[in-house]
Amino acid sequence: MWRAYLYNQEITLLEEAEKVLTLDLIQRAKQLLELHYGYSSFRNGQEQAIASVLSGEDTLCVMPTGGGKSICYQIPALVFEGTTIVVSPLISLMKDQVDTLLQLGISAAFINSSLTAAETRERIEKAKRGEYKLLYIAPERLESFDFMDHLKQIDIPLVAVDEAHCISQWGHDFRPSYQRIQRMIGTMPKRPVVLALTATATPRVRQDICWSLDIDENKTVLTGFERENLSFSVIKGQDRLSYLRDFIKKNEKEAGIIYAATRKTVDQLYEQLKKSGINVSRYHAGMNDQERMEQQEQFLQDESSVMVATSAFGMGIDKSNIRYVIHFQLPKNMESYYQEAGRAGRDGLPSECILLYSSQDVQVQRFLIDQSSEPDRISQELEKLQLMVDYCYTESCLQQSIVRYFSDEDLPPCGRCGNCTDSRESIDVTREAQIVLSCIVRMGQKRFGKTLIAQVLTGSRNKKVLELQFHKLPTYGMMKEKSIKEVTDFIEFFISQEIIAVEHGSFPTLYINEKGKDVLLGKEIVMRKEAVQTKQVAADDPLFEELRNVRKLIAEKENVPPFVIFADTALKDMCVKLPETKNEFLTVTGVGQNKLEKYGEKFIDAIVEFLVQNPERKENAVKGTTVNAQTKKASPNSHLETYTFYKEEMSVEEIAEHRNLAVSTVESHLIQCMQEGMDVHMEDLIPDEYISEIESAIQQAGGEKLKPIKELLPEEVSYFMIKVYLLQNENEERVK
Ligand code: ADP
Ligand code: ZN
Repeated sequence: MWRAYLYNQEITLLEEAEKVLTLDLIQRAKQLLELHYGYSSFRNGQEQAIASVLSGEDTLCVMPTGGGKSICYQIPALVFEGTTIVVSPLISLMKDQVDTLLQLGISAAFINSSLTAAETRERIEKAKRGEYKLLYIAPERLESFDFMDHLKQIDIPLVAVDEAHCISQWGHDFRPSYQRIQRMIGTMPKRPVVLALTATATPRVRQDICWSLDIDENKTVLTGFERENLSFSVIKGQDRLSYLRDFIKKNEKEAGIIYAATRKTVDQLYEQLKKSGINVSRYHAGMNDQERMEQQEQFLQDESSVMVATSAFGMGIDKSNIRYVIHFQLPKNMESYYQEAGRAGRDGLPSECILLYSSQDVQVQRFLIDQSSEPDRISQELEKLQLMVDYCYTESCLQQSIVRYFSDEDLPPCGRCGNCTDSRESIDVTREAQIVLSCIVRMGQKRFGKTLIAQVLTGSRNKKVLELQFHKLPTYGMMKEKSIKEVTDFIEFFISQEIIAVEHGSFPTLYINEKGKDVLLGKEIVMRKEAVQTKQVAADDPLFEELRNVRKLIAEKENVPPFVIFADTALKDMCVKLPETKNEFLTVTGVGQNKLEKYGEKFIDAIVEFLVQNPERKENAVKGTTVNAQTKKASPNSHLETYTFYKEEMSVEEIAEHRNLAVSTVESHLIQCMQEGMDVHMEDLIPDEYISEIESAIQQAGGEKLKPIKELLPEEVSYFMIKVYLLQNENEERVK
């Protein structure tokens, strides 16, 4: 009795000790997050997943795309001794993943079929010596016994299985090699912790993953499925190509993906967009490896801003600054849709997911399902397709219906999606509907498609119309003030409202639904909203453009994609915080110690130079908060107040203290005053001993750019002084 009591107490003590240990480790994990990644806190689910792994539990982590899964294994990899193995399905992207880590100052490498035998050997040797914190491998490697033998000699504390749904036949990307993972883990001399990660949350797939990897289902970390920065919308009954062109033109500087259902459509769109002068890449399984690689690189390197692709494109694409994903055609199910659309806005900035719906695509998808599915899965696939179509017709919140599809989570309306924000005026189009419907009745139901019907309504002299004597119908030419295009759009809209139905025979023909009959009889009215305006995703900011250029130059030099250097979030945060010192730069989200040292100076220089040229920008700077923080609006005439104090012969420092502003803000005020031709003198602002030095530096370097001038001068001479000197000269020139 007594012994048992003691024993229990010891166990509790042990458990407590373990908890303390894990707590310590989490503390450590937070430090690493700040140090390497420059993020100040974990996102929803990350801490839980990391804690679970650190306490030695095999874990399944389910988070939506962009939720931040990578950090869930990368941080434990840093905490643990030894080399973490990451099984990742796409060899073409491993390099980016590894480059990203190297930029963060974390040693990593990959092994896949793109390496020569010698390179592979060398990397394995390095791994055995413990030179990598993370080693990415393709699952196919696990087919080789030789490779497995090598793995046994590496100290492996953790195996991360990325895109873990590939292990399940029920998932949408089944990979047979994934089923070797469990065998690999079984042969390790010391059993590593296993962390499986996926964005696919259907219970069936989750169960399969746990079962295949021997993970206790209770050890699942599942975050909500809402993507708070995405706004979903479905566009119906409009000309898709012109909508698309308009949208891309409006968002020219932003990156986006256009998904189409077939290779043929991808090729057509690619040509059409290219003709419209848009910088576009394409990707589908019908192109050869080389071409696909090149096109993908172009897009990842920000050399083209639009990627037109089939669903073959995108898995594992880490490009974080994709601002929109447009589905030109209906995807085959909600799983694919959410995964593809979810590639927008991984950096957390507001992004658009738009589905352009047209009823004929249902037929295309049916055909694709018939062609590619195993017979016993066809009915299941068709059911999923129907749910996808339902999504396009729902009038309630789109984000809500997506989340409901994947889980039993109940969300309030998102307030962002097309349905939540639709405030367009509706106009009554009952009369138009009745004309179209009666024309269909007169031409014969289930006999003709929408083009011929539109030709009759617009009074076309087309041969077929005349042959069939349709020019004698009373509805002939009843809509002649409209174009054929406008009338077919109308018909599309009536189909989407289930007033007209489509019979999918060898070619689609139209007939009238129950609801259509009510419309014809005047028992029901039809309302149509005016055309949807395309949105502009992000506002233009010249500083952002400037920083984007700096990033691009660095990326080219280092031969990595720009988003590996800094995410758009980091650049946006720089635009808000306007850091001018290294310490301030470190407060920018996404800036860790390593990136500060490597790139801090280049970005700070660009910002300082920008501010000197655009002093008014300073007024909105918010130091020490993040991108989403409200920017405080200062009065537009703040510089005039500074000027009054300057006239009272106060020094810059005194004005700053008196007005409770940063010295640099006061400096920018004075520059603004000089630009506006007010009476400000360089003699008050530049110590005498520097004036002649600045003059000769300008003679050497020219007066165009500030940086080359600054480089010729002692540290103490600031950009401010140089700018003041230049402005005074300009003003004097003007007076002469
Ligand atoms: P997933 O693999 O789940 O799609 P990633 O791991 O690629 O997502 O992360 C998406 C983006 O979010 C990346 O740019 C990443 O740097 C960023 N991120 C991850 N965790 C955090 C965090 N705690 N704070 C801020 N940004 C984060
Ligand atoms: Zn909504």
